[in-house]
Amino acid sequence: MSSHQSEVMRCELCQYKTKRKSQLVSHMLVHRDPSKIKMYDCGTCPFKTKRKSSWKKHMLIHRESVKRHNDYDI
Ligand SMILES: [Zn+2]
Ligand SMILES: [Zn+2]
Repeated sequence: MSSHQSEVMRCELCQYKTKRKSQLVSHMLVHRDPSKIKMYDCGTCPFKTKRKSSWKKHMLIHRESVKRHNDYDI
């Protein structure tokens, strides 16, 4: 009787729903004017992301190895 953490958060603008608030926050970006969102792009490959943390993480794969290049996070 202690754990009922299955609260679902919904987007007010579309059908999207998630259990994680952080997911919802990043989802809300899709409803914003794209021209107002700063996109970080790789420059080495077509990867781009809205999050700087994701971009930093992505850049590591070019340093470490070129093999693991399937982890796109768009
Ligand atoms: Zn939505
Ligand atoms: Zn890249």
